[in-house]
Amino acid sequence: MDNGHIEVYTGYRVQHNFARGPAKGGIRYAPDVTLDEVRALAAWMTWKCAVVNIPFGGAKGGIICDPAQMSKGELEKLTRRYTAELIDFIGPERDVPAPDMNTNEQTMAWIMDTYSMHARHTVTAVVTGKPVDLSGSKGRIEATGRGLLIVVEEAVKKLGLKPSNTRVVVQGSGNVGGVAAKLMHQTGYKVIALSDIYGGIHNPNGLDIPDVMAYLEKHRTLEKYPNAEAVSNMDLLELDCEVLLPAATENQITSQNANKIKCRILAEGANGPTTAAADDILERKGVFVIPDILANAGGVTCSYFEWVQDRMGYFWKEDVVNERLKDIMVESFNDVVKYAETHGVNNRIAAYMLAIDRVAYVTRLRGIYA
Ligand code: GLU
Repeated sequence: MDNGHIEVYTGYRVQHNFARGPAKGGIRYAPDVTLDEVRALAAWMTWKCAVVNIPFGGAKGGIICDPAQMSKGELEKLTRRYTAELIDFIGPERDVPAPDMNTNEQTMAWIMDTYSMHARHTVTAVVTGKPVDLSGSKGRIEATGRGLLIVVEEAVKKLGLKPSNTRVVVQGSGNVGGVAAKLMHQTGYKVIALSDIYGGIHNPNGLDIPDVMAYLEKHRTLEKYPNAEAVSNMDLLELDCEVLLPAATENQITSQNANKIKCRILAEGANGPTTAAADDILERKGVFVIPDILANAGGVTCSYFEWVQDRMGYFWKEDVVNERLKDIMVESFNDVVKYAETHGVNNRIAAYMLAIDRVAYVTRLRGIYA
């Protein structure tokens, strides 16, 4: 540490499946990371990559630490050491990490550099979510939020709603919630509530999202934002709205509050925001759920584009990235909805059926090497 003290951290990388290609998935830094959580997140990555039909398996990583209490230099040392420990397990053909909670482009640049120093040559495709100037992809930062916008647009059309009178509530204002709120506001949706880890703000007439984001950037909190009422992260979920977008963390919608949720569309920006018990309640209430493994798959889809561009050494224009992202998200949305209708199941079950089918199919095709 900066003060000369030695601190030992625990970190994990879980690789869940390789049947369809190299394992893929983010790395999160948080004080409450557990091995079980990372395991669940790794499995979700397998199903997520299969739902959008990109040639990856699933993995996830995490380090138990509190990045808010650490300096940039300390985070760099932590990241480089973690990478060095994983050197034999990651790689462009093996397992390709990416950002997740509390990790970002800088974290990916450090991983890429550490891996490259060991390989004795620059290996850009070992991670995705890198800075654009360091072989990242245009559009990657916005891709998860953009993917959410795309699937919400499809759901809104399907339910016969109009963007201008569709009220949107967003839990979280990071790289997923913040970007989704910005893009939805730009597209003409009425974003009426937004939150950060400390709490949220609500204005039934609609928030001026660029102004809110500028305030957040300046003050590092939404607290005391002038043109809205304060609302807690839990109360925010129960606000009257057409689209609810949980984009923070796991287990937010549970058997305790699912009955009080008033949205028509639930678009899961976070991984695992809804518990299984809550899911049954939402189904009975007729909420149109866009499950996490579909709704937030825009991020990993653009990660796939980044990996392809790195391996080609040829980089695409942002319009090309966004157009290809849209093609994949719309097709996957339609695949899931069609599966749900054909098999008479809800969208989450349909997404899992589709994903498990795809993984099982290639597993059988490959056969067992014995
Ligand atoms: N961490 C993101 C997710 O949960 C992105 C993973 C990736 O791009 O590999 O989907």
